[in-house]
Formats: sequence, C-alpha cells, structure tokens
Amino acid sequence: MKVNLLGLDAGALGGFFADRGQKAFRARQVLRWVHRFGESDFARMTDLAKGAREMLAAEAEVVPPPMIADNVAADGTRKWLLDVGHGNAVETVFIPEASRGTLCVSTQAGCTMACQFCSTGRQGFNRNLTTAEIIGQLWWASRALQARAAQEQSTPAPSAARALGATRGGERAISNVVLMGMGEPLLNFDNVLPALRLMLDDHAYGLSRRRVTLSTVGIVPMIDRLRDECPVALAVSLHAPDDALRSRLVPVNEKYPLRELLAACRRYLERSPRDFITFEYVMLAGVNDSDAHARALVELVADVPCKFNLIPFNPFSQSGFRRSAPDVIRRFAERLLAAGIVCTTRRTRGDDIDAACGQLAGRVQDRTRRAGARLARAVQ
Ligand code: SAH
Repeated sequence: MKVNLLGLDAGALGGFFADRGQKAFRARQVLRWVHRFGESDFARMTDLAKGAREMLAAEAEVVPPPMIADNVAADGTRKWLLDVGHGNAVETVFIPEASRGTLCVSTQAGCTMACQFCSTGRQGFNRNLTTAEIIGQLWWASRALQARAAQEQSTPAPSAARALGATRGGERAISNVVLMGMGEPLLNFDNVLPALRLMLDDHAYGLSRRRVTLSTVGIVPMIDRLRDECPVALAVSLHAPDDALRSRLVPVNEKYPLRELLAACRRYLERSPRDFITFEYVMLAGVNDSDAHARALVELVADVPCKFNLIPFNPFSQSGFRRSAPDVIRRFAERLLAAGIVCTTRRTRGDDIDAACGQLAGRVQDRTRRAGARLARAVQ
C-alpha cells in the first residue's frame, strides 16, 4: 500500500526517505511541494532527482479527503464538506476578516463529549480523523483560496505568488488556524500532533504558534501533554462558573472539574506562546448569562491570566436553548471588563450556511448509539 504523504510531518517524512536510502533534505523539498504549493503529482516536483520522483510515484501518494461541497455565505465565510468515508463527512470553515483569515478545522467525525448546546455533540461519534484528514482540510482550503486569488488577479499567478493561499499583497489568505471545528482535538492527540507540527513547519504552512489555537473542552491530562509536546495558543470551553451548571452543560466536567481545569490552565501558561488562556463562553438565555454568573466567573478565574470570548449561542433544530439577548450579552461583557478581564463577543459568521460555531454537523454515522439512546430517553 502506498504511503499518504499528507499524514507525515517533517520527522516522519525524513524517516520515510531515510528508510529508502534517500537524503534527508528530500523531506524539506517534498514538504514544500505538497503543502506550500499544493502539488500532488510527483512528476511535477521538478527539483527532485528523477530517481526520487520514480520512487515516490511507486511508493507514495498525496491524497486529501474528497471534497463534496463548497458553500460561500453572504458575509464571505466559506464552508467545505469533506468525505471521510463510510458515509461520514466533516466540515472546515474559512472566516475572512479585514486583518486576518481564519480556518476552522475539524479533528473528529462527530464527538463523544455530548455538550448539550452543540450540534456536533448531539449527533454522536464515529471516529478520529487521521493526520492526513486533519491537515487535508488546510491543504484544500489553501488551494481553493489560492485559486480564487489567482482568478481575482485575472492573470496567471507568478510563481512567487504560488505560495499557498497567497493574496494580492503576497500575504497568506489563511493567517490563523483554529482547531474549533467538529470534535475534541485533545482526544485525538496522536493524529493532531503531527498536523500541528505541519501547520508550524516553515517548509509547510509556516504559521506561528500564536496563530494556531487549539480549543478544548478541558481534558486535563492532555492539556499538560500539549504543553510539553507542542504548545500553541489555547482556548478552553468554560461555559459556566460553577461545577453544578458546567456538569449539566459539559458532561466531561464530572471527570475534570473546574478546580483541576484551572490548575491545568495555569500550568499551560508556563510554556504557552501567549500569556493568557482564551476562555470560550457560550451565551445561553436564562441558563448561564445572569449578573450573578458574571460575578462568579470573575472570582473563578481571578488567578488565571485570561481573555474571554463570549459566543452568542447558535441555534440548531431541537437544541432546547435560546441565544441571550444582545443587551444581556453586552451587560455580561461589561461586568467582566469592569473587573479588568479582556472580553470580546464573537460575531456570528456564516450562519446562513450553518457554518457558525456549534452548527457544524457534517454527516456522521453514530457508532456510539448515544444519539439513539438520548432520543429514546426523550420520548419516554
Ligand atoms: N471540542 C472543542 C472544540 C469545539 S467547538 C471544545 O470543546 O472547545 C468550539 C466552540 O464552540 C466551543 O467552545 C464550543 O463549546 C462552542 N459551541 C458549541 N456549540 C455551540 C453553539 N451551538 N453555539 C455557540 N457555540 C457553540
């Protein structure tokens, strides 16, 4: 069977060449072709020796997950649906803004965490994505955005501007990556880690650690592993100021309660490329959005340098939750700001194509049967 090079980071690719008696620097060349230039045809990797190209053609391949849909929202947000086999699909979202372009990447087909307000969580879990499927999302998006940039220029892109996703000013269209799509990245650590390394690798996507953000529901021991093995910017889904409420909304809180989670955040900051943790907080009307909740939150995070990102709840059918009203969100934000906590409210983007946070549903055949069990409970 051929080796899919999309799944190999620099170290693994070096090993691939060494095993075949080839020079290690080939790995750098191939990384550049595959990731920077989006090339999947070895015959076109012109600076490789003929023998190396022939070996690659015989033993390797570059195969991203097939793209099955590509939608653009009124606000420019773009969503791709990728087929990951056996009736499962995952979603990737590109969010263009004036000063940056953010790609939101999925790490699992479905999710086991079952957060009550999350559409992905409601559909159960199928499997972990492979490294090739995770980095494949960046590969596709970079290529697609590069094609668009070239089209806008209406002349063929000069070779220097072939850098993936290059825009007119030579800037990368994708300046930031967030692991905030479907799934819990820290429960797929072994496949996420090489994908992170590729994102950071100068020969691949060359993103700075500060511009790659991993968002976790709060898997405490894995937060430590990330800190030790590949610290990037960290976002933690908090969503409640006390254990009782958090356990209701985010069931894994039973296993890793707030005290342990916040201690892990403090440990993370010792190695983090950013000097704060981003706490995500979904605003659910009448559930976690009162003045008392804001006050409790301020106390809870008193000794963790942090910023808050309030996410107005994005509705999906039969969620059973409502979004907090704009003035309630404003008031909540003001309470945090008054306590000296930097706080932003996420603008809802791409909701006309169901690309907003928590709406990513892909299409997942649930193997956990949890979704069915929940349904059975609901109708009892
Ligand atoms: N498993 C990771 C990534 C999940 S998605 C994590 O839990 O952090 C990224 C963010 O969107 C999380 O904070 C998640 O709680 C939030 N989210 C999920 N459903 C949402 C919804 N319907 N509306 C708004 N935010 C939601």
